[in-house]
This record gives sequence, structure tokens and C-alpha cells, in this order.
Amino acid sequence: MNTLSAKRFDMEDIFNSLNLGVCVVDADSKVLLWNNWIAKHSDIKETDALNRQFENVFSESVSPAFLTALKNTLTHRLPVVLSTALHRTPLPLYNGCEANQQQTRMYQSITITPIQSQLNESCCLIQITDSSTSIKREKMLRSHSEILKKEATTDSLTDICNRRFFDAHYEMAVAEAKRQKHPLSIFMVDIDFFKSYNDYYGHIAGDNAIKQVASALKSQLSRATDIVARYGGEEFVLVMPHLPQKVAEQFAEKLRSAVFNLAMPHIKSRPFNQITISVGLCTGIPENDDNLLNKADAALYQAKLKGRNRCICLPLCETEEYLEQ
Ligand code: GH3
Ligand code: MG
Ligand code: MG
Repeated sequence: MNTLSAKRFDMEDIFNSLNLGVCVVDADSKVLLWNNWIAKHSDIKETDALNRQFENVFSESVSPAFLTALKNTLTHRLPVVLSTALHRTPLPLYNGCEANQQQTRMYQSITITPIQSQLNESCCLIQITDSSTSIKREKMLRSHSEILKKEATTDSLTDICNRRFFDAHYEMAVAEAKRQKHPLSIFMVDIDFFKSYNDYYGHIAGDNAIKQVASALKSQLSRATDIVARYGGEEFVLVMPHLPQKVAEQFAEKLRSAVFNLAMPHIKSRPFNQITISVGLCTGIPENDDNLLNKADAALYQAKLKGRNRCICLPLCETEEYLEQ
């Protein structure tokens, strides 16, 4: 700064008008400077802070990471920037009296710089900025991106996985089953006589029925590796690895009875008079061109032909013969 400007401004006024905390400590970490910003956010006056050891100025604890950084800067004369990700609230500073009452510390961004006094003493300059806004913005962006990610893979009506998620997951599950040579089971599920349900009860009731069926199917899953997705309209698909054929068949029956037990009236569905589903299952260890999905769909078609409200299982290797029957 040149002499002209030095004469025109009182340095202490500038120092006390800064919108950041400025503090200087000596080699014994005794406070030499304490600006208005820190006084305001700590509720500790300059007169109560001067000549006291930094960590003893506060009635509350100062984070050990901050004290270590301060000690290191005083000893090794190297500047330190405290990571805001790791140390969000090192000092007991608050944003206004309301925050103080709730004991919510301000998020802080701190740099500690070695400086030399005019008497050649080793000192440290501590600068503190309020990073609450940027951290809140970062949190908001992160939660927005999580919401977007969820929306991109979730069916908005039923809140189960959507077709896009299924397509990607199915490909991965088949590839994994081929590589590991373990069985994979695909269940295709379709609500019976749903067109007449919509025609008779209306589209809103139809939507509600789809939701209830989706949630009944989902409630049958307990392993993290299993998924249920809305394949389209009133059709659903489940992907479950590692099930022996017998267990997969029993599970298909569990799905059917879970929906049957909802006991939702559907007077246009004869002879059941309630909402039912048909289930097509294909299970086996996939090889080369095996297409479990097509075969599960063929099994579903068989279930419809045989009268609905039933499950048909086609083992992967015997499918062709079965279809010819
Ligand atoms: P099937 O037993 O052979 O499956 O007969 P279906 O009547 O269920 O089959 P179809 O494919 O003829 O009709 C499916 C109906 O599902 C047509 C449409 O009215 C209804 N649907 C599809 N998507 C939705 C949806 O998102 N909401 C509602 N309310 N209805 C839907
Ligand atoms: Mg259908
Ligand atoms: Mg249907």
C-alpha cells in the first residue's frame, strides 16, 4: 500500500469492517489481534481475547484438528488450509443469536498463515470465512442430483423400478449368471382382464389397482439382489438370481397368492370376481443365445391360455419342446 492511501484510511477500521474473521497469535498462541467479525460471531470481545491463549479464549471446545494445524504452522512455518469437507465447524462460532441458542455452529473455512512481527517474532494469521451458504448449496445440489437419479430409474406411478432400470439390470444379471454359471429366474407378471377393469371401474381406480399390485409384489422381495420393475402398462417383471428351480416355482406361486389375497373386487373377471395375476417364469443357467425374458413371456402366454390366475414355469433348456405341445 502506498503512503497516500495509508494516510486516507484507518487500518483498524478496515480490519474491523472485513467480512471475515481475522486473528493473529504469537509463538505461544497468545492472541494479538481479534477483529470485530470474530467478536461478533463468538460473542467474545477483543478485550477479553487479547493476550490469552487462543484455545482458552473460548468457553467451548476448539477442534483438535484446528489446534494441531495451528501448532504445525507455528513450528514449521508452513501455511495450512483446513478442509471444509473434513472440518466443518472447528471453532465455536455462530451465525446470529438464534443459531447460538440452538447451539448450531457456523460452517467455517479456515486458513492459517505464518507471519513475522516487526520485532521478528514468529506469529500466525488466522483467517475464517463463513461457508454455511456454500455448504448448504452443495448439500442442496447433492440432494437434487440424488432425486434426479432416483426419478430416472423409478416408475412414477408405482415407485418401483422402471423399464429403463430393468433393461440395464437385466443385461447385467444375465451376463453375471453366464459368467458365474448360476441360475437366474425371470418372472413376467400380468394383471388379468385389466382392460375390462378400467372400462368398468375407471382409469383412476385402474391406476390404484396397479399401485396395489406393484406393492404386493415388492413386499415379497427380501434380498438386495432381487428387483421388481414395471415392464409396461399392467405388466411387471422380477429378476432373481441363485434360486433352485423348485424354489423359483414356489416363489411364483407366492406372488400369485399375494395379489389374490388383496381381494380387490373385479366383477368383470370370471370366474374369480377379483383382481388376479398370471405369472410366467423361466429359470436356468443362461448360455450363449438363451433368452430368459422371451421364454418367461412365452410362459406367461401359456398361463393366460390355461385360464389365468396361475403360474407356468418353463425351465430354460426344455422350453422349445414345451412350446410345441
Ligand atoms: P389379459 O388377461 O389377457 O392380460 O387381458 P387384459 O385386459 O389385462 O389385457 P389387455 O392388454 O387387453 O389390456 C391391458 C389394459 O391395461 C389396457 C389398458 O386399459 C390398461 N392399462 C395399461 N396401462 C395402464 C395404466 O397405466 N393405468 C391404467 N389405469 N390402465 C392401464
Ligand atoms: Mg398386458
Ligand atoms: Mg393383462
